[in-house]
Amino acid sequence: MPILVMKFGGTSVATLDRIRRAAKRVGREVANGYDVIVIVSAMAGKTNELVGWVEETSPFFDAREYDAVVSSGEQVTAGLMALTLQEMDVPARSWQGWQVPLRTTAAHAAARIVDIPTENIGQKFAEGMRVAVVAGFQGIAEDGRITTLGRGGSDTTAVAFAAAFGAERCDIYTDVDGVYTTDPRISDKARKLDRIAFEEMLELASLGAKVLQTRSVELAMRYKVRLRVLSSFGEMDDAAGTLVCDEEDIVESNVVAGVAYSRDEAKMTLISVADRPGIAAAIFGPLSEAGVNVDMIVQNISEEGRTDMTFSCPVGQVARAEAAMLKAKEDGVINFHDLVADTDVAKVSVVGIGMRSHTGVAAQMFESLSAENINIKVITTSEIKISVLIDRKYMELAVQALHDAFELEKAA
Ligand code: ADP
Ligand code: ASP
Ligand code: MG
Repeated sequence: MPILVMKFGGTSVATLDRIRRAAKRVGREVANGYDVIVIVSAMAGKTNELVGWVEETSPFFDAREYDAVVSSGEQVTAGLMALTLQEMDVPARSWQGWQVPLRTTAAHAAARIVDIPTENIGQKFAEGMRVAVVAGFQGIAEDGRITTLGRGGSDTTAVAFAAAFGAERCDIYTDVDGVYTTDPRISDKARKLDRIAFEEMLELASLGAKVLQTRSVELAMRYKVRLRVLSSFGEMDDAAGTLVCDEEDIVESNVVAGVAYSRDEAKMTLISVADRPGIAAAIFGPLSEAGVNVDMIVQNISEEGRTDMTFSCPVGQVARAEAAMLKAKEDGVINFHDLVADTDVAKVSVVGIGMRSHTGVAAQMFESLSAENINIKVITTSEIKISVLIDRKYMELAVQALHDAFELEKAA
């Protein structure tokens, strides 16, 4: 039988009633003739609560135990979903990551999927089970410990299962009815896209649009998974939602496809470091070893052999970055006069494959921000995106201004 993967996010399994609604959708696909692999998230808010408990218990926690705690939310919803389906006379069984076993790297809290053997679940399908309910977000490392895939990781579990089982499609059910030109919570002019190219979705996700985890888009692109994002509250309509697909499958598109933001950024500047060969390696080596995810980097003009080096990272990593830089200074690896952290910044980005062939997007972006009196602190660009770092208090305004400037409320 053809296989379908259906993933339900936290809001879609937030209560027993919602689990029942989700199960009805699954039941309908079973009636349509599919064997279904359901991937569930934890109930809405559960993972945040679990993370909070870990941080309160142990501020510099052991990541193995973090994973032991935060993976538990999905265990509950997987069992409840299987029970709900059984109550509807649909033959279903739940699977935790280790039971599949979904093998991952040992990078706790940010593990990557290595392998999904299909034998165990395949065998059950052959015996007449119609739905395998799999706990998202979790796996098992080589040493037998439970791992998790990073926040939002159930999306990646879903796409990886779709690839491993050669599923006909991977449907991601969430609390919005598709991928929008920007987060519909920030702009009421946001427009739902019927289709979006993998490359654009990948950039939007990595620049902060959390509707899909970045890694899930990467996997879908690599393994050619048909990926659809839709609402679990809407009508049961086969044409619903947004299809993430190849660029060639999109007929018309705007130069800019969407605007993304990332709220919790920080900008750090090392003042007066020696401008010499190897200085960047001496700074960013220790930062990387300390697990700091450096994003934007700017080296300022050098004067009398000294320069300022600015970089951005998630605000939650500032303490770690400071500690790494102070240690490098103590060890004599680098020398600087001061380290300044600005923890009130956000990143706003415009994304679109049309930028490859259109000029003037950057100029228009900077003009619209300037018209709102928003100061740009750092800029980075790539072939299909432009990002700026600005004061966090202007983030919503910037997103709305850019959405207007590029007329994203109108279809191409
Ligand atoms: P789930 O729990 O279903 O995984 P998430 O909260 O992880 O849901 O992702 C869905 C949310 O992503 C939406 O509620 C929306 O606020 C946010 N979002 C950000 N950018 C976009 C976008 N461009 N299109 C749609 N949703 C977006
Ligand atoms: N429950 C996990 C999280 O909140 C994984 C997921 O929902 O995708 O990050
Ligand atoms: Mg999510």
